[in-house]
Amino acid sequence: EDGSGKGAALITAVAKRLRNIDKYLYAMRLSDETLIDIMARFRREMKNGLSRDFNPTATVKMLPTFVRSIPDGSEKGDFIALDLGGSYFRILRVKVSHEKKQTVQMESEIYNTPEDIMHGSGTRLFDHVAECLGDFMEKQQIKDKKLPVGFTFSFPCRQSKLDEGVLITWTKRFKASGVEGADVVKLLNRAIKKRGVSLVNDTVGTMMTCGFDDQRCEVGLIIGTGTNACYMEEMRHIDLVEGDEGRMCINTEWGAFGDDGSLEDIRTEFDREIDRGSLNPGKQLFEKMVSGLYMGELVRLILVKMAKEGLLFEGRITPELLTKGKFETKHVSAIEKSKEGLSKAKDILTRLGVEPSHEDCVAVQHVCTIVSFRSANLVAATLGAILCQLRDNKGVGRLRTTVGVDGSLYKMHPQYARRLHKTTRRLVPDSDVRFLLSESGSGKGAAMVTAVAYRLAEQHRL
Ligand code: BGC
Ligand code: MG
Repeated sequence: EDGSGKGAALITAVAKRLRNIDKYLYAMRLSDETLIDIMARFRREMKNGLSRDFNPTATVKMLPTFVRSIPDGSEKGDFIALDLGGSYFRILRVKVSHEKKQTVQMESEIYNTPEDIMHGSGTRLFDHVAECLGDFMEKQQIKDKKLPVGFTFSFPCRQSKLDEGVLITWTKRFKASGVEGADVVKLLNRAIKKRGVSLVNDTVGTMMTCGFDDQRCEVGLIIGTGTNACYMEEMRHIDLVEGDEGRMCINTEWGAFGDDGSLEDIRTEFDREIDRGSLNPGKQLFEKMVSGLYMGELVRLILVKMAKEGLLFEGRITPELLTKGKFETKHVSAIEKSKEGLSKAKDILTRLGVEPSHEDCVAVQHVCTIVSFRSANLVAATLGAILCQLRDNKGVGRLRTTVGVDGSLYKMHPQYARRLHKTTRRLVPDSDVRFLLSESGSGKGAAMVTAVAYRLAEQHRL
């Protein structure tokens, strides 16, 4: 018969294949009803974390950050910022000046952190940081200057002031010895022989950077190697810090959501396998369903299982396909590009040696979409809980706010941001949320926090 008949048959075959994948991965496709339920669960976790009685056993730690105000536009100065714990170790020099209008000038350098340093001794890790800083100051010709340092450290730390923070646990790729339970500001001071370092989580840095451009910014969100969010909470709700006046930024540490078993109903066999193969089994279970360090690997595990069952690649399984880490999150991003996605899929799968057919490529693209969509949906649910909290705190019917965002997955994935925005707005309909991308926000923000701290200290002296 003619070509169009064949074409129609092919389309039907592909559609059938996609429906089968939908069925196969039904547990990863979360309905709005489920998302609203997760939103309510996370709201309860937030409440527990904030309360004096429940905080010690809470899974979501809701850490006070001792950051009380966002930039007001009058800050100025010359600062160094260190940004450790994301995809890169970055050192920045941030100059904030006033000529008619506040401007920020920034220079930065990326340094490698080899795996043996991430997994070696804490002393060695901080010596490495100090060495890189030395190199940076030399390059910038500021060796003899005593610039204030902001330290973005993207791990959960219990703080009792801005220049102190005890690492609760390592997450993501890091596992250096002798740091958990220790004050990381002290460790850094010892290595760089400096005082007066302010410690900032990357979410807080991101919020502060965006707060510089948009005074309404009161949430910081990271979707990168890891995931987390912070927001401005009313002091009267923060049992762990004295005083009821004003607000303080709370680092939620939402990556740990589910560590007490509260997400078991939506976790799949693939999530459990990811967890078993991770550096921190049993921990950061929400993060492992969401963030960039795990997404590619999640897809790979699904592809392996489907191939084993003959649902992909005519059952071909290669050593490459079976190798942990061979399928990366950046591949998910490439495959989901609307125009070149399928040809990227062909390249990537060919490199894995599985000789993909066109239908295989379409199928793999669909698997990627389900996994990355689930991630965006889950973040929409937890972010939705924060937005509801802000709305209730303000006692307004309709919330108007800005969320500052940073992170490699959010920035690199072609569909992620749009899906996240759309689902968030659907889950919290009574809101006008602006999402503001923060360019190297996590690092720059540490300088902003330091700048605000300096402004406040100055005001106290006056
Ligand atoms: C850490 C958080 C951090 C997030 C994003 C998580 O693993 O626990 O402190 O904000 O990653 O980098
Ligand atoms: Mg970062």
